[in-house]
Amino acid sequence: MQTAELELLPKKLHIVTYGCQMNVYDSYKMADLLSPLGFVSSDKLEDSNVVILNTCNIREKASEKVYSELGRIKKIKDAKAAKGDNLTIIVAGCVGQAEGEEIFARAPYVDIVVGPQSYQTIPRLLRELSRENKNLLNLDFAIEPKFDALPEESASQGLSAFLTIQEGCDKFCKFCCVPFTRGPEFSRGVSDIYREALAIASKGAVEINLLGQNVSAFHGKNPDGSEVNLAKLIRYIAQIPNFKRISYTTSHPRDMDDEIIELHGTEPKLLPFLHLPVQSGSDKILKCMNRKHTAEEYLKLIEKFRKARPDMAFSSDFIVGYPGETEEDFQNTMDLVKAVGYANCYSFKYSIRPGTAASYMENQIDEEIKADRLDRLQKLIVEQQQQFNRASIGKKLNVLLDKKGRHENQATGKSEYMQAVTVENAEDLIEKIVEVQITEARQNSLMATLTKASS
Ligand code: SF4
Repeated sequence: MQTAELELLPKKLHIVTYGCQMNVYDSYKMADLLSPLGFVSSDKLEDSNVVILNTCNIREKASEKVYSELGRIKKIKDAKAAKGDNLTIIVAGCVGQAEGEEIFARAPYVDIVVGPQSYQTIPRLLRELSRENKNLLNLDFAIEPKFDALPEESASQGLSAFLTIQEGCDKFCKFCCVPFTRGPEFSRGVSDIYREALAIASKGAVEINLLGQNVSAFHGKNPDGSEVNLAKLIRYIAQIPNFKRISYTTSHPRDMDDEIIELHGTEPKLLPFLHLPVQSGSDKILKCMNRKHTAEEYLKLIEKFRKARPDMAFSSDFIVGYPGETEEDFQNTMDLVKAVGYANCYSFKYSIRPGTAASYMENQIDEEIKADRLDRLQKLIVEQQQQFNRASIGKKLNVLLDKKGRHENQATGKSEYMQAVTVENAEDLIEKIVEVQITEARQNSLMATLTKASS
């Protein structure tokens, strides 16, 4: 495709997104970036001119899964080439950053590789590709120019929107590849964020989730150079009338100060639900992980949040079988879970991430032991989740209804605790936040009826 054609012809873009909410946000931005070049999003890879794999490196064997997906896409590229059509393949995201040139060595049919801090250059790289047919790579860590280059006006994300306010991380937990793939911690400027929040609100979002790998470390600047922390930023954003619900993720216990804790008690738009990863309940393991806090400090934080807002609920991430974890360490994790009483949790067996400090540790744990511990932990987590959902029966909750339910006149949505809720006689209230009374707790969802205030 020649450069002039690239600008003029209508083209289809297929994006496959792996991983976290930040990647979901980045994929929206990639679609926004390519829209001025005439690209429209397509669900069908076979019909598309460009495919972007927006990858994630957090799970085990992430790169192998990407290579296997690339093998499948190559067959489609070859079939299109036989008919005289082209399919440009772009690998973006953290696997792109971690693998770099290796991707071209193993999958030479990939056209472009970009890291999570350089995807703003995709339009330029596509133009370059249309002039000189060669593999193109950009893994720069220039975060500020990235946000400068992203379009402010974005396509609607629907009722519930994401907004990245912070990227990267300086914490260097020994199991984690984020500091290497996303780079050092960076907070966006407050006026940039506010402008984007206004644009998101004008597109119809009523819920906004502020994102960052380490969102609680946010320290953006006002135009006059004064620093703004996460609590202050939330206060600004809460003034936008369209937003009825505000949340933020992912937080590190070390950064949670009294101001943000108290805000949960005073700002009604801030959800009473927080994802606060602890990873382990053992001080020895927390130290080995370089988490920089103890189990007791974490429990004290939970207590402070509950004091500020008694109906506060929590979720967390856990890693079991970290190198050197004994049965006693694991029992400490089980004790911490029991002490907190979570609404929901994500738990994984420790697995090696190449290049991380933990990958070089010698005292790796047997797979069978890890599987057994994970099984015990997950049983406890499921029990707690069911207990939390059962405790909701009879309570009044607020639900953001976003689609039709399975049966006639039902609508479904999410409570302020991110529980899936099906509401009877509410089909005409989709896109609204309604007050409901919970009538039943099922395996993975709640049933509810409208309260007098909503019906
Ligand atoms: S704080 Fe989170 S993102 Fe940063 S290194 Fe630790 S686990 Fe990774």
